Amino acid sequence: MDSKENVSKDFIREIIDEDLKTNKYDGRVHTRFPPEPNGYLHIGHAKSICLNFGIAGEYKGLCNLRFDDTNPAKEEEEYVKSIINDVQWLGFDWGDRLLFASDYFDQMYNYALDLVKKGKAYVDDLSAEEISSYRGTLTHPGIDSPHRNRPIEENIELFKKMKAGEFADGKKVLRAKIDMSHPNLNMRDPIMYRVLHASHHRTKDKWCIYPMYDWAHGLEDSIENITHSICTLEFENHRPLYDWFLDNLGVYHPQQIEFARLNLTYTVMSKRMLLELVEEKHVKGWNDPRLPTISGMRQRGYSPASIRNFCSRIGVAKVNSIVDFAFLEYCVREDLNKTCNRFMGVLNPLKVVIENYPKDKVEEFEAVNNPEDPKAGKRKVPFTKELYIEQNDFMEDPPKKFYRLTPGREVRFRYSYLITCQEAIKKDGKIVELRCTIDPETHGGYASDGRRVKSTIHWVSAPNAIDAEVNLYDRLFTVKNPAGQKDKNFKEFLNPKSLEILTNCKVEPAVQKLKPFDRFQFERLGYFCIDQNTTDKKLIINRTVTLRDTWAKIQKQQQNKK
Ligand code: ATP
Ligand code: MG
Repeated sequence: MDSKENVSKDFIREIIDEDLKTNKYDGRVHTRFPPEPNGYLHIGHAKSICLNFGIAGEYKGLCNLRFDDTNPAKEEEEYVKSIINDVQWLGFDWGDRLLFASDYFDQMYNYALDLVKKGKAYVDDLSAEEISSYRGTLTHPGIDSPHRNRPIEENIELFKKMKAGEFADGKKVLRAKIDMSHPNLNMRDPIMYRVLHASHHRTKDKWCIYPMYDWAHGLEDSIENITHSICTLEFENHRPLYDWFLDNLGVYHPQQIEFARLNLTYTVMSKRMLLELVEEKHVKGWNDPRLPTISGMRQRGYSPASIRNFCSRIGVAKVNSIVDFAFLEYCVREDLNKTCNRFMGVLNPLKVVIENYPKDKVEEFEAVNNPEDPKAGKRKVPFTKELYIEQNDFMEDPPKKFYRLTPGREVRFRYSYLITCQEAIKKDGKIVELRCTIDPETHGGYASDGRRVKSTIHWVSAPNAIDAEVNLYDRLFTVKNPAGQKDKNFKEFLNPKSLEILTNCKVEPAVQKLKPFDRFQFERLGYFCIDQNTTDKKLIINRTVTLRDTWAKIQKQQQNKK
């Protein structure tokens, strides 16, 4: 699973190899990513994006970005913009092929008229409820509509009238004339067009009939000369219908290939559920860092490379499964470890006063920016008499395995000195300050006599510290599969502690230079990024992921089980 070369080819790439061998599409590979602009993209979409654009890249083919904007009711310009932005941010390029299904509305209408003329489609007057009750079930055949055998001429005229706006919403539909007792319910005279007097984000009021997804989708791929229409498993039993439409029209035919959609633990991926969370303000918006949306992950500090890497490692399969969120975090951590500079910051400050250090002295110590990347260089960190350390790096009465600061113990303050705690000052029983001393002979943090200390802790110079607000994110849900809980609404499992805001953080001055979305590590604490709402007056930081590798732990548990 490590390097790309070692990855055995997945079944989709195997199909493409075979098609190239047999010259099925004259050596062409042309895929597409076809989002419906009715929400923001999420990590599941990222899997599809990486797959489609990835394949096009590997085979020197093409990949279109096509908006499947056939439903005017739920679609919005805002979503179009966010989707374009997200695909670009992930690092993919569609060249000049930014396409919209709505641009094919005329052609789709003509295709439909063609089927009507061939006696393969008819106008039906039944209501939506009647149509669904006539449809039958898996065990019972459907019943023909009384309008199924309308003469072709009458169908042509009625369909034209539908288009001309002569009928109210829901009064007429156009249906394919296939087979009301077909074992595949999708083939029981599916609806192709409905009357809907609604304004569309691009075609405005030009149309009052709109194509149904199943009618439109295969046509879009055909019109664009797509070779491999890659989609998720739930469309497997729609494939015969797409084939029927294309065969009966006698037009170009792409190959549809289905793969399992991505599911992740502790989150939801349905656009309907995500929309509910946004609209009911359980989160701050589509780009809330707790959501599995691509814009949320960007806010959170995930890098495009880490998301691409995750998508390539989980691979494609024919069986639905659920991927552990910890594995995504593992991929994020792995990339950020290589690319992020380190800084020191204190989330819950405890003041330290160095008794044997001059009051106004400022020393600058050199700190390594990124031990993984020698080119990242070094920076200077100021050291002064008053410092801050993390509250939980001190314990007055520590248990056995606590090696950090406690009265009488010497530890290393990273990059600076070995420091001994002399006394903890309390106010109303709460520790408010530590009195410490340095060993001046340990400049740089190491003793010349070779004595060792058991821990190194981070710190920030008090007079030089920058105040920051830090958002700590946790899982959005308390259970692995919130959408799959019997008889319970997924929102009952929202984690009340998914966001903790720390308002009194102290960070080293070098952090001031960073800009919104810049990613970095706070030593010992995790990876962070600058929030987009940061201003000159207020520094806001988001925690991307902790340093703890929970994925390794999960893998160990799984191995032990075997
Ligand atoms: P809905 O049908 O509810 O609008 P959708 O997730 O299918 O939601 P689309 O905009 O139609 O949304 O998706 C665009 C593409 O992304 C489709 O080709 C779809 O198969 C793919 N896709 C969507 N969700 C996932 C997922 N969880 N894993 C992999 N691919 C996905
Ligand atoms: Mg869809």
